[in-house]
Amino acid sequence: MLDWNATRALNISAGLFIDGQWTPGEAGASFSSLDPTTGEVFARVTEAGASEVDGAIEAAARAQPGWAALPPAARAAMFYAAAELFIGRQDQFAQALIRETGSGYGKAMFECSQIPIALREAAGLATRDIGEILPSQVPGKYNRTYRTPVGVIGVITPWNFPLYLSIRGIVYALALGNTAVLKPSEDSPVTGGLMIAELFADAGFPAGVLNVVTTSRDRAPIVGDAFVKDPRVKVVSFTGSTKVGQMLATACAPIFKPVVLELGGKNPTIVMEDADLDRAVDIAFFGKFLHQGQICMSCDKVLVARSVYDLFLEKLVAKTRNFVPTNPAEQTCVIGPLINGRALQRVEAMVNEAVAAGAKVHCGGNSRGPYYEPTVLSAVTRDMAVWIDEIFGPVVTVTPFDTIGEAVAMANDTPYGLSASIVTGNPMLGEMLAERIHAGMVHVNDSTVHDEPHAPFGGLGASGGGGKWGPKGAIEAYTVQRWIATQREPRTLPF
Ligand code: ADP
Repeated sequence: MLDWNATRALNISAGLFIDGQWTPGEAGASFSSLDPTTGEVFARVTEAGASEVDGAIEAAARAQPGWAALPPAARAAMFYAAAELFIGRQDQFAQALIRETGSGYGKAMFECSQIPIALREAAGLATRDIGEILPSQVPGKYNRTYRTPVGVIGVITPWNFPLYLSIRGIVYALALGNTAVLKPSEDSPVTGGLMIAELFADAGFPAGVLNVVTTSRDRAPIVGDAFVKDPRVKVVSFTGSTKVGQMLATACAPIFKPVVLELGGKNPTIVMEDADLDRAVDIAFFGKFLHQGQICMSCDKVLVARSVYDLFLEKLVAKTRNFVPTNPAEQTCVIGPLINGRALQRVEAMVNEAVAAGAKVHCGGNSRGPYYEPTVLSAVTRDMAVWIDEIFGPVVTVTPFDTIGEAVAMANDTPYGLSASIVTGNPMLGEMLAERIHAGMVHVNDSTVHDEPHAPFGGLGASGGGGKWGPKGAIEAYTVQRWIATQREPRTLPF
């Protein structure tokens, strides 16, 4: 295994991973993946151009029929092998997540814990049913449906949970007999792509089944364009911002190319009057501050029944004050750095603008080096960016409500619809309320940040609309269904 955590020595890490080979970029260009805590270069990474992207798509297209023709048990064995290998490499993966993306140790280990689960889930998918028999109205007719892999998928992933989101993006599609070209984020090319390429190669996946191309942000559109326009790429899978997702979906629409999207969120936690407030504080705190709030499921707004609002706010602020941002290399780190200066400045501007317009800061509200202090805001109004836009940082707003209808209206006051949480002493009421929330996922008495690899993860509206992640959603997204009907006995036709 390459020593990914000593890449400063290694530099220009390994190259692009195309057709089972580490391949240099044609122009010899490279870019830096930076450690967000220190600003130092974590890795120099090869810059792909149009011809490398084309080569990766070609390799995937060539490998696909042979891969799909393997017995399911042979495909499954490679996923089990990858899971075992991963467990042996978990510490290297976690250290790389800490250094490349500023993940706290706990977050990095949590992310790693999902990988073997997802790989084994994918192994099981290889033998799931791929067809059905339907009754017919016509005597002697046999209706069957068959599902076959779509072919090559193009996968683009972000930096916040780079390892898990890339794994999630590829494994179910591969298990179903597809092949893939993966482009990880420019902020996480190693943990979101190159280490995965190495893992899959070592686990025995044949050449061309998984190809990884890396680019800087400026060159990302080269990959996006190729995935959209190249007829060999049958489905585009994207996890990232609503802006880029919208662009890709718009470009795919006129050529009817399917896109699978997971975009932003503006996720509420509703605290009911009968909630255990200490539990509600823990739920809101975890939902907001895990990974500095840089998660599509992060809880941006806590809506609290007015009768318990003051006490809840006091308890949340008291807890939040205990967490001082620290270097994520320290095992006790909960709040680490933001991913880059651009992200930090964005959060700063949002808070400053809210405060200038009348919002109240109860704790935090400042940046220190690469960190932004965990921040609790109240007196937030509907015209403020902190209420409208995804915050993607360690800042939470707390707002009182008087009626359940008002709580629902405020929770739904957004075009997004990814995740929500409801904290109540009455789970039945929580479930009934959940049905009124415009979100793909609602957690009663748990935080907005929750995922299980086998569950139908996905959002509504600006969070991505149709399509679900996870094994069941993958069957819909990454196979073509055909109805094949056979008339076994002669049929009397009308003329
Ligand atoms: P963020 O701002 O959180 O990085 P983005 O949506 O910008 O979210 O990035 C998510 C992924 O989309 C990254 O892999 C990034 O390189 C990629 N990306 C950004 N712009 C484009 C584009 N025009 N075409 C294709 N991919 C893009």
